[in-house]
Amino acid sequence: MLNPITNGNGHSANGNEQHVNGNGFANGNGYAKEMVATKTAEKLAIESAVRTILDNVGEDSERDGLVGTPDRIARMYDEVLGGYHVDPVKLVNGALFDVDYSEMVLVRDIEYFSMCEHHMLPFYGRAHVAYLPTDQVIGLSKIPRLVEMFARRLQVQERMTHQIAEMLDDILAPRGVAVAVEGQHMCSMMRGVKKEHPVMFTSAFLGEFKEERELRKEFLSLVR
Ligand SMILES: [Zn+2]
Repeated sequence: MLNPITNGNGHSANGNEQHVNGNGFANGNGYAKEMVATKTAEKLAIESAVRTILDNVGEDSERDGLVGTPDRIARMYDEVLGGYHVDPVKLVNGALFDVDYSEMVLVRDIEYFSMCEHHMLPFYGRAHVAYLPTDQVIGLSKIPRLVEMFARRLQVQERMTHQIAEMLDDILAPRGVAVAVEGQHMCSMMRGVKKEHPVMFTSAFLGEFKEERELRKEFLSLVR
């Protein structure tokens, strides 16, 4: 069973009113208009907030080099935080296939870029996703897109790791899911005096991966 679009807290992804209302699709234009109106209001609010930041860190938001920055940042957020608006059902789009294969399926080295929710600075690295099929497999390209859907939100790495595992479990109902994520966090790299760049490693195991130590070991030996 697929979740509708939710953020980490399980609330509606977008506190605003972007749900389809009763007549949104029926009249053929209500929904589209509503989306555009909401987006515009959101974009203007972000632009205004960025100008406030600029003017309060000692800058002049009207100077040549900065005058277009609020607009650029608002458009950038639309992309790098676009994961709130992705519908996982549409993302998977029926790319589930009946296959008589029960061994581990592993997609390694999925590059991702996310934003830490504590500082709104990037963290990035690689994710490794494995599952043990029951009777279905998912199209190869869909797993990186699931990772991207969760990465393009304000995140903590631990939660993102679990969300990827839970979503794959929901979609495929496999015998087990394993997810490992490596991340370098700009908020720890840029701040403080230490010039070390530790890599954070998080993992989530469901089903047989959780129950069987040997399977976890096999997975971890394949990804580390
Ligand atoms: Zn941070």
